[in-house]
Amino acid sequence: MIDHLRNLANGWESTPIHLRYEAFVHLTNIQPYDPVLPGLGELLELQAELGEVTEIYQKLRRNGRYLEAADKKKLKDELGDVLWAFQALCKVHHFSLESLMQENMEKLCARLAEKES
Ligand SMILES: [Mg+2]
Repeated sequence: MIDHLRNLANGWESTPIHLRYEAFVHLTNIQPYDPVLPGLGELLELQAELGEVTEIYQKLRRNGRYLEAADKKKLKDELGDVLWAFQALCKVHHFSLESLMQENMEKLCARLAEKES
């Protein structure tokens, strides 16, 4: 299993990274399937990871500090966790990252076009 995960992470460079990442998240997601509310475990994970991002900002603000290199490293790490949980939630509902990106851009373009008209 770990060799397969490492190949997804570092190998098969001819396969687009978003496809390798989707497979990686699918294989590493250990949330139990909830037949009543599919994706609830993944949503809770996403919210928890977003809370960790919020905590970084909250502590900086509370202590009157600016974002320094170590904070930025931690922020990047936590945003990676947010991405993992987001992808896990998308996977439950069979939403590909590619389709989400495409449809979101189209929605925003339509919204902006409406504002301009
Ligand atoms: Mg985290």
